Amino acid sequence: MPIKIKTNFNQQIVTHDIKQSDCVNTPFPLSELNIQQRPHGFQIIVYRSVLNAIKQLGRASMKREVGGMLIGLICWDKEPFLLIDASIEGKYTNDQQASVTFTAKTWEYVHDELEKNYPQKKIIGWYHTHPGFGIFLSAYDVFIQENFFRELWQTAYVFDPHAETDGFFIWQNNKVPTKPNIKPLIIENEPENKFNNKQTNISNNSINNLPNNPMNNFQSQEKTKNTKLDVIITLLPFLISLICIVLICLQGWQLYKIEQRINKTEQQIFQLTLHNKINILEPQKNCCSDCNKRIENEKNKITPQNNNAQNIKENKN
Ligand SMILES: [Zn+2]
Repeated sequence: MPIKIKTNFNQQIVTHDIKQSDCVNTPFPLSELNIQQRPHGFQIIVYRSVLNAIKQLGRASMKREVGGMLIGLICWDKEPFLLIDASIEGKYTNDQQASVTFTAKTWEYVHDELEKNYPQKKIIGWYHTHPGFGIFLSAYDVFIQENFFRELWQTAYVFDPHAETDGFFIWQNNKVPTKPNIKPLIIENEPENKFNNKQTNISNNSINNLPNNPMNNFQSQEKTKNTKLDVIITLLPFLISLICIVLICLQGWQLYKIEQRINKTEQQIFQLTLHNKINILEPQKNCCSDCNKRIENEKNKITPQNNNAQNIKENKN
């Protein structure tokens, strides 16, 4: 069912055939945009850093066109909206003075980067520069949009580094417009200095790491689940080893205690036996001297240390 929407550019009525099932259900990033209410109609939301990265690429090539891909998600919150939070530089393009051609190698590179760095995101559209010749889509640009960015939510962005002007284009009544027809909503609150050097790759990573990135809202839930499971799996062998070590230590301690008790009991038994035997073998008053000698000898046998001393004494005598 096509949806009729007004764009925020010049209140044009645009027919869109974007299905809710193609979109990710996500809340409109009101706080990131510092607005109270979701604007009516189809919206393009883009991070300032993404635009900055593209503009830097453009300024570095003031004579030849450069281009690449816009990366993000097609979202749904009562109505569809685009969220562009990254870009991939179109490497291996055939750049001419007034046109840019995405070669087979460019597409291969873009899909590799997308899979590697943004596995849950889509190619939302494309960008290219018009060094010194203004903001519009040429017949060749329209051809590219019609053949490579056919989804009705896929957009085009053009930047002129000479005039420092830019514009977004979305499909309008199943046709590609030649003039910009939508104004993006820009998320500003990102540190500027992050994107000075390595452009797209750096900016992409830093955007993804930002805590207030609305893209994180729906990604984080699945990520948290995976992370928890990963942590449990990683820690499981360590925990098992720790429990084993504790059990072994406890067992060792118990054995040591038991051994100590046995030693103590043995000593007590020995002392008790000795005591009893000595008591039994105490010389009797009325006995003869022979009997007393024999008793004395028996005593010496029981207490070997005394026995030795006795022997020495006897030897000396
Ligand atoms: Zn062009």
